[in-house]
Amino acid sequence: MTDIRQVYLDNNATCKVSPGVVEAMLPFFGELYGNPSSMHSFGGKVAEHVTQARERVAALLNVSPEEIVFTSCGTESDNHAIRGTLEANPDKKHIVTTKVEHPAVLNVFRFLAKRKGYHVTELGVNKKGDLNLDELRAALTPDTVLLSVMAANNETGTMFPIDEIGAIAREKGVIFHTDAVQAVGKIPLDLKKLPVDLLALSGHKLHTPKGIGALYIRKGTRISPFMIGGHQEHNRRAGTENVPYIIGLGKACEEAMNSIFEENNRVRKLRDKLETGLMSQISHAYINGNPQWRLPNTTNIGFEFIEGEAILLHLSAAGIAASSGSACTSGSLEPSHVLMAMEVPFTYAHGSVRFSLSKFTTEEEIDYTIKTVPPVIQKLRDMSPFYDPNK
Ligand SMILES: *Cc1c(COP(=O)(O)O)cnc(C)c1O
Repeated sequence: MTDIRQVYLDNNATCKVSPGVVEAMLPFFGELYGNPSSMHSFGGKVAEHVTQARERVAALLNVSPEEIVFTSCGTESDNHAIRGTLEANPDKKHIVTTKVEHPAVLNVFRFLAKRKGYHVTELGVNKKGDLNLDELRAALTPDTVLLSVMAANNETGTMFPIDEIGAIAREKGVIFHTDAVQAVGKIPLDLKKLPVDLLALSGHKLHTPKGIGALYIRKGTRISPFMIGGHQEHNRRAGTENVPYIIGLGKACEEAMNSIFEENNRVRKLRDKLETGLMSQISHAYINGNPQWRLPNTTNIGFEFIEGEAILLHLSAAGIAASSGSACTSGSLEPSHVLMAMEVPFTYAHGSVRFSLSKFTTEEEIDYTIKTVPPVIQKLRDMSPFYDPNK
């Protein structure tokens, strides 16, 4: 085995930039500097590449290119979807989401409740992190204008059945937005078949540099622009295009499309190997989320009696980058809102660690992680006042 110094297993936070993406972007930092809105050849050449990038994003989702709007990030896409919908549909005042959304959705809903007078329903989940669809259906009233439910959870990887959820929204005449930032590129999404009106994605969860995203707006959806100014993006998002990053996002979508099936099988096998390897060696460990209905790259494991932060520090010292399911918000000792909504017991919610893989994760790295994590857990437990080795 070669010497492994750095194992990156935090791909749900951000991903390594793909070399192919960088290569595609480079000319747009140099000779291809024209403004795509310009009438001359400098602009025209660049506009052709922006068109191609839009086609590549659209192809990954099986939609038409005119339905794709480039944004600055996943957070902007979510904000645009939610706030743009409400601005264009001002008569209804009820909006519905879930307790386990990313802050890019959840905090927008909470702002709208607090500052804009919206009546907000936040749907809960069961212990596996699943929604109750009967409850969801009952929550949609004639006053409901928007439903926002994520496609896959960033912390646990749990996937929601957006096909069934979208069908319920359609039936009730409610606009349906999905934050698919964690799903795009990891699982196939065919929006010709899925009843989704608005879908947010982010480049850096898909191997581009940070700072580019896109919003899918199904043709005919009533939505106001988020940025007002020039005529870019068919008047839906003003501002001169971030051309190099748009090109990068197009390339990343093309790469995802070309490898989605084989890569996902490979990554799923590695994730399962990691999970089995850890669970078989470590007692009092629990998988958070729904193990059957989950992104192929994610595992979130709760280790009882110890603190996630301590585990992460020790793993980091051993060269392994993972993430805590109980990220302390500004020094408070609250576990993550996702694990709280799932009513994960405190004793292991605090000791939860998310490992998230990518197409760049190797089997060697997983073997190293399987070997490295158990002694770290044991060492921390030996120091823990809550741990009794005889139980
Ligand atoms: C990362 C993430 C976002 C935010 O995307 P940015 O591009 O970082 O703004 C939104 N939703 C989910 C589920 C995410 O994982």
